[in-house]
Amino acid sequence: MPALSDSVVIVTGASSGIGEATARHLAKEGATVVLAARREGRLVDLKDAIEADGGTALAVPTDVTDREAVQALAQQTLDAFGRIDVLVNNAGVMPLTMLHNLRTDDWYQTVDVNLTGVLHAIEAVLPTMLEQRAGHVVNVSSVAGRRVYPGGAVYSATKYAVRALSEGMRAELGPSHGIRVTCVEPGAVATELTDAIGDPEVRASMGKVFARLTPLEADRIAESIVYAVSAPASTTVAEVLVLPTDQAR
Ligand code: NDP
Repeated sequence: MPALSDSVVIVTGASSGIGEATARHLAKEGATVVLAARREGRLVDLKDAIEADGGTALAVPTDVTDREAVQALAQQTLDAFGRIDVLVNNAGVMPLTMLHNLRTDDWYQTVDVNLTGVLHAIEAVLPTMLEQRAGHVVNVSSVAGRRVYPGGAVYSATKYAVRALSEGMRAELGPSHGIRVTCVEPGAVATELTDAIGDPEVRASMGKVFARLTPLEADRIAESIVYAVSAPASTTVAEVLVLPTDQAR
């Protein structure tokens, strides 16, 4: 029997990149996957591809900055499948910008998606996991949750916060409630994430940074997430930092 055949997993940010790859890998391991992001067409295409491969998926268009929409995502999951075993809290944006350029809409969008959105998803699944006395939350932070690069002050602030949140969740929810928490910290991964960088000063410097390294395929991060959620219930894979070999820091 596949490792995750009894698991119901919500993946936020499933319409591209790491989230999409994770949903595919989890479905291959037998998990029922609930796909959340804003671009409905992408979610439906992914659901169709997973089902064509013999898997089970549900597409729920969701903006994680909308608290009620995220509550509805959890409710639709429960209505369809009766439980929520894993949340992959992955949706994120990275409109890197130098502080002196005062692109403040970028700052607040980063906080709204990467931190408030992460909290919305935790809020939506936690009552169910507490009731089940079991569950697993995988929060996607970043190497930028350990180091701050120029242009990344606000992005790193959100990713440091996700790492701190993960540590606190693990301490509070693991021993007393049987809920596991994993913080995944990717280095450079080839996805659409950098497309949203609107600050020309950062765009110019990012090109040079990426030319010096070989970004990972999203599948490498998906494999790490499958490893963490496939561990026996008695084992918490607390943190996973995955870097391209040629990424120095
Ligand atoms: P992508 O841009 O490919 O994916 C981001 C996902 O987040 C998309 O599915 C997007 O879907 C979703 N998303 C963005 N805003 C919202 C929103 N308001 N509501 C719901 N979903 C939203 O990038 P990645 O796959 O690289 O990013 C995934 C995670 O990995 C992020 O948290 C990112 O910070 C993190 N990460 C990425 C690294 C990299 O080098 N790529 C390195 C370290 C961490 P849609 O637009 O359809 O809503």
